[in-house]
Amino acid sequence: MSSAPPAASVSRRQFLRDGARMTAVAGMGGLLGVLATRSQAEGTVWQIDPQKCLRCGRCATECVLEQSAVKCVHAYAMCGYCNLCTGYFEPEPNALNTGAENQLCPTAALKRTFIEDPYFQYDIDEQLCIGCAKCVEGCNRFGNGSLFLQVRHDRCVNCNVCAISRVCPGDAFVRVPSSQPYLLKTTH
Ligand code: SF4
Ligand code: SF4
Ligand code: SF4
Repeated sequence: MSSAPPAASVSRRQFLRDGARMTAVAGMGGLLGVLATRSQAEGTVWQIDPQKCLRCGRCATECVLEQSAVKCVHAYAMCGYCNLCTGYFEPEPNALNTGAENQLCPTAALKRTFIEDPYFQYDIDEQLCIGCAKCVEGCNRFGNGSLFLQVRHDRCVNCNVCAISRVCPGDAFVRVPSSQPYLLKTTH
């Protein structure tokens, strides 16, 4: 889906990626702090193995919380920064622009920002994301698979038996150490 960037663009793109990655890491760092204070005695927490997730959509509807604790996460280092992003656009968009009718996300949580021709950056507005996995499915089916789902531990109440895990068709819900509560995708 993506093509190799022109050599002159690499350093700038790398800078942008590093900046985005640091922002993401900083966000996660805040969550880790919250988690550490909340669950030191709990030992383990629920997390989604992104390699097992089948993008079925049940994470959005089966969580005991009114708005699911599951949200989309972006592995920027894996992203192609595609103009035609199949995680962002409907299968047959009228145009490659930010018109609501062209967007796959039902809550407009995925934001598209022009970087430089022909590259665009995609960011998730966590307040709007409901964890429906539509963008994840689009990105995995035709793109690089850089969008994926994670249980956010600033929201999750760590149920004894996660309600989503009961119905997850991929057996993707696993218990992980509360000291390392995220299973992130990387290029390595
Ligand atoms: S219920 Fe399981 S397979 Fe379905 S979206 Fe959630 S983690 Fe993925
Ligand atoms: S398509 Fe679904 S999972 Fe993706 S950003 Fe929008 S609400 Fe979140
Ligand atoms: S453990 Fe409970 S709160 Fe956390 S994702 Fe599962 S159902 Fe939602």
